[in-house]
Amino acid sequence: MAQPTDWTRLNRRYGNAGSDASWAKVRELYEDDKVVEAWQAAQSLGTGSRGWGLVTLRMVEAEAVSRLASEQVSFGSTLTVEFPRVDDPELAPGIGGMIREVWQEVCLELGLTPELPVVVTVLLPNFDAQWVPGRHGYCIGKNGLTKVCIPWRSLRRSDDLRAVLLHELAHAATRELSHDLMPTWLNEAIATEMEGSLSRQYLMQVRTGRVSWMSPGELEGAFEVDRRDVHADQWVHLAYQQSAAIGRWISGSSSLGRRKLGDVAKAFANNSTWTELKLRVTGQTHADEALREILGFGEKELFDRVRHSIETRTLPMPIPASITES
Ligand SMILES: [Zn+2]
Repeated sequence: MAQPTDWTRLNRRYGNAGSDASWAKVRELYEDDKVVEAWQAAQSLGTGSRGWGLVTLRMVEAEAVSRLASEQVSFGSTLTVEFPRVDDPELAPGIGGMIREVWQEVCLELGLTPELPVVVTVLLPNFDAQWVPGRHGYCIGKNGLTKVCIPWRSLRRSDDLRAVLLHELAHAATRELSHDLMPTWLNEAIATEMEGSLSRQYLMQVRTGRVSWMSPGELEGAFEVDRRDVHADQWVHLAYQQSAAIGRWISGSSSLGRRKLGDVAKAFANNSTWTELKLRVTGQTHADEALREILGFGEKELFDRVRHSIETRTLPMPIPASITES
């Protein structure tokens, strides 16, 4: 059992906040990727003050316990892989090399010369569990680095591993390209296009009017639905698929292919102070501004065009091998 935290110093820093202050410290350590220190500090707090922060606590735990059992290997100046020392005869061969290759592929396709460090953490098999948030893999921005965590079970089959890596490393690349300013729907449009997760079944459902086509605001909201809701899975699935169709359209409609998606991401980060001020005053979204800069039209027209291309069967489809029938 860890020692209770002495709040005196923390209260001086954060005001007389008791365990809230300690919890703020846990989050601060986590955001600096000092996950073992964050985990040690969290243990005397249970689930965080008044139960708040349980999701973060589980992520701190998974990343800290995995780090304690891992070795770190650097590939070049920006990529580090944290790999647990676990014997598993079923692992796919050449995993380290594959992580490096997929990172290079993602950077090349999206047009990123990486400078921001990326840490890829393979989580221990113990964290292949229902109660782990983001158990299919996640990408999280921290101070001065981007962290990608991937589940152990994705290491069993090369196809699964490649899909998880393409998706999560695309998030890492677009975070650096866009200075982390993209809305979720566009972020996922790029990641799902890199992964190739658009399903034909979804396109048919849109064509036959069995699923609703969401506006930019509705689509963003669908990613944020309360996951405890019984219909949450359905909404989240539809949100990912609609984003995947949008990513496919942008990439497939340009001779630049996926580089066009990278250009859209970059257009979030190149605004003058004047443009930023204009966005704030007029209420125009960052996405609308970036899309107009790269595609020549904004969010609403993009959504209309993608829907029209699905309805008229003119959505440019990728090589059949990368389409799934889920
Ligand atoms: Zn994603």
